[in-house]
Amino acid sequence: MSLSELCRSCGLCCDGNLFSHVPLQRAEADAARRNGLEVVSLADGSPAVRQCCTALKGRSCTLYAERPEGCRRYACRLFNALAGGTVSFEEARSVVEQAHALLSAVERGLAPDTDPRPTSVLERARFAAWGEASGFSSEIDAARERAEAFLDQHFHGSPRRFEDPT
Ligand code: SF4
Ligand code: SF4
Repeated sequence: MSLSELCRSCGLCCDGNLFSHVPLQRAEADAARRNGLEVVSLADGSPAVRQCCTALKGRSCTLYAERPEGCRRYACRLFNALAGGTVSFEEARSVVEQAHALLSAVERGLAPDTDPRPTSVLERARFAAWGEASGFSSEIDAARERAEAFLDQHFHGSPRRFEDPT
């Protein structure tokens, strides 16, 4: 069981539920566009890939060998725990499945995503809570909070992908 195998079964740092963007090095922007990634400008003008990433199919990156440097460098808390031997592969897989189950519980209560640019489950749930999309209910909002807390506990780590490049 390899570390990359965990990521291929997860995809949470690519689907917009953990981060909104992946920062790019300026020299990577053209190649990213050629590869079909949606390249946007951050507030400081630096390029970034918008998530949910267009290269994500199911839970796997279809550009794995050519993924940007920011993707290569990133490792979530769970990945680091597996790499450091403090959790087993089976335990890590179980955490990934629990995270997806919590997100599915949120999604079941939301209106279908009809936007041609896919939007993450948590972002859609936040829009609903803010009254900017249909589907809000207190049950769904509670499910969103449970999912966010779980992701914070098990996945958010350092470095954070949404930090602007320095
Ligand atoms: S969130 Fe962690 S385990 Fe999941 S794909 Fe990203 S680095 Fe891998
Ligand atoms: S290029 Fe691949 S690794 Fe990078 S965000 Fe997109 S799907 Fe994830």
